[in-house]
Amino acid sequence: MRSPDRGVRRLAAGGYWRRKMVGLRFRCGIGGLFKVPATQQRRSRAYSVSQDFAEVLRKPKRQLTKLVFPLQELERQLAPDTRPSLHLKLFEPSLEDIARADDLFTATDRHRIEYLSSAVRLEHAPDLLRPEVCFIGRSNVGKSSLIKALFSLAPEVEVRVSKTPGHTKKMNFFKVGKYFTMVDMPGYGYRAPEDFVDMVETYLKERRNLMRTFLLVDSAVGIQKTDNIAIEMCEEFALPYVIVLTKIDKSSKGRLLKQVLQIQKFVDSQTQGCFPQLFAVSAVTYSGIHLLRCFIAHITGNLKANDSQFS
Ligand code: GDP
Repeated sequence: MRSPDRGVRRLAAGGYWRRKMVGLRFRCGIGGLFKVPATQQRRSRAYSVSQDFAEVLRKPKRQLTKLVFPLQELERQLAPDTRPSLHLKLFEPSLEDIARADDLFTATDRHRIEYLSSAVRLEHAPDLLRPEVCFIGRSNVGKSSLIKALFSLAPEVEVRVSKTPGHTKKMNFFKVGKYFTMVDMPGYGYRAPEDFVDMVETYLKERRNLMRTFLLVDSAVGIQKTDNIAIEMCEEFALPYVIVLTKIDKSSKGRLLKQVLQIQKFVDSQTQGCFPQLFAVSAVTYSGIHLLRCFIAHITGNLKANDSQFS
């Protein structure tokens, strides 16, 4: 098997994205990409159940499942023997873990969550040692709305949500205390910024502290051509990445399930670096937001999800 570096070096001379856009195709075979960082450790900060999550916990079981584990609720529609195909138990934290993660996303005087800076080139990105995760997706996929929802427990954080596609033209860095950074990348596809290639590809290839890339796909439309190119780019660069389905409030259960199953099949058969478990979110109903926060806390080494049940 080819080493991941070779693919990266081969592409260093020219923009992957640009080449893809003119129709060149590369195939690759890179495996074993979804590792939990060695720095995995339990945070020492005491946690408390936020007001927000306390309200979630008061909901009837079915509603709670729908809000916290939306794909598990959807999976109930499947015949029992086909349910394991959704791999929903790979990351299945307890409600206590989820409360801990919410706590990490809650700003306090001593735990500041804030917009840090923007950059158009990697050289201008803040030089950080802490783990980082980034969010990529087509313009209008709901990226800014998702980041805003993830930061809803830190309302002072300013995440601009646009009404016009292609609004995010810079890489925007947000710090979550001293624990990790989240990066909102410019959208690709329609009206992508001209220097998208230099900006995004270089970042993805060279950012040393990048722990995971979250690739957003609009659940109402499924994987589009440009999403495919982004997926191939992640594969070629040997990036560990995760597919997040956005706007799940927009589709009926049946339509959403069809889309989820199709994407799951694609992930299982066509990808190697993609985490097999899909995540699904709505920035309107907040479905899946708590679980995604918990996953981010986990993969940045700030929360060791355990099996204990919330009591
Ligand atoms: P971005 O270009 O990827 O940053 O997308 P935005 O976050 O600006 O969202 C694009 C459009 O989709 C906006 O009109 C949002 O209000 C809408 N949108 C984003 N997330 C959701 C969602 O979860 N549900 C619904 N129904 N609409 C959403």
